[in-house]
Amino acid sequence: MNYSAWFAAQDDPNERYPLTEVVYYSKSGGLLEVQHNMDALRQRSAAEWKQLFEGRWMRTSWPYGSGVWGKKEWVCPEIEDKNIVSMFEGGSNLFWADRLGQEIGVDDLWIKMCGNSHTGSFKDLGMTVLVSVVKQMISDGKPIRAVACASTGDTSAALAAYGAAAGIPTIVFLPKGKVSIAQLVQPVAHGALVLALDTDFDGCMRVVRDVTSHPDSGIYLANSLNSLRVEGQKTVGIEIVQQFDWDVPDWIIIPGGNLGNTFALGKGMQMMYDLGMINRLPRIVCAQAERANPLYRAYCNNWNYEPIAAQSTAASAIQIGDPVSIRRAISTLTHFNGVVEQASEQELADAAARADRTGAYACPHTGVALAALIKLVKRGEIKKSDRVVVISTAHGLKFSRFKVDYHEGALAGVQSNFANPPIELPADVDAVRRVIAERMG
Ligand SMILES: *Cc1c(COP(=O)(O)O)cnc(C)c1O
Repeated sequence: MNYSAWFAAQDDPNERYPLTEVVYYSKSGGLLEVQHNMDALRQRSAAEWKQLFEGRWMRTSWPYGSGVWGKKEWVCPEIEDKNIVSMFEGGSNLFWADRLGQEIGVDDLWIKMCGNSHTGSFKDLGMTVLVSVVKQMISDGKPIRAVACASTGDTSAALAAYGAAAGIPTIVFLPKGKVSIAQLVQPVAHGALVLALDTDFDGCMRVVRDVTSHPDSGIYLANSLNSLRVEGQKTVGIEIVQQFDWDVPDWIIIPGGNLGNTFALGKGMQMMYDLGMINRLPRIVCAQAERANPLYRAYCNNWNYEPIAAQSTAASAIQIGDPVSIRRAISTLTHFNGVVEQASEQELADAAARADRTGAYACPHTGVALAALIKLVKRGEIKKSDRVVVISTAHGLKFSRFKVDYHEGALAGVQSNFANPPIELPADVDAVRRVIAERMG
């Protein structure tokens, strides 16, 4: 029996398409899911899968040293190795957040550093799969001129980098003035066609859907409604379990915007469970910014969902009012006994600053997840002895403006409780000694 995968309609599993077909929606208009031939995967025992994955982990035999492609049979089995576009994504470290844990009352706290990656965010995990499938399609003779996405910053950085590595043209739609300098310059540097539109993310999404909707456009859509990205992103949870020697943590906390990543985390965990690799599931917490919190509102209202207009937040990558993956994220959260929590600008900025004081370097989205953790510990939902993993979605260095503003006391609506601004002095030894004595005692 062969390892294989295909797109399937959610409401009709018999409606199937090959992964190399240009199709985003089912006949009834729903999202498509990637399904795997689970009977074929079951022919290897859990112990054999573990051994195979361990043997490939972080080594150099192409492309299996990549955290994503080391699990190729579970991700995208039929693609030819020569068409894989990989930058050895995945395999990011688990940061042992011992000091932060002591401060907030968790003995076993870890941060999965997905920002330690080629383009500085977890988006690389999914983009390697999508761009590889596009390369396969082009090599099969499909008429694809370019790949396009709307982005809050990190998706476009990843798409532009992988496109450049493969020699495939890319087009990115960004909300003008709403992404960080680092995020803007990445697609510019990689030679993407960068279109800064005078709207928000949701507005960019509407435009890119329209531009790519005609099958003859020759422009392939890379947003997370395209389920290929989920297949790569789902490896994050598998990696976490692998890094704990195949032990499942009690809680995984993840920041959510468009909610594809929340769904992907659950999908990877469920696949491990279905293939007998683990015998229990973690609880999942999705953390949202209070100023862009449609999932949180639904959670508080019996899962009744209403799109909102997202307000501006320092957690710009999750400033989304009408998430594409809302339905599948709700089904993940109900299945994983999930919790949704939110963080105000004050809470997310202080949480990131506290983490930085203990040696982490948290982006604002990681700040949202850490703020949610602090609230759940205070409420007693997360216990001191629980093993908790916070997913850090991007590298703090992509958000220098946020950090500078915080430490200068210039973040809108935020009191910088942990600010540590530099002290300007004349080049005078006595003045320097005075300040050291004041500050260091
Ligand atoms: C994309 C992104 C998110 C949100 O992921 P979704 O799948 O849209 O929920 C969170 N943090 C960062 C840094 C991101 O780039």
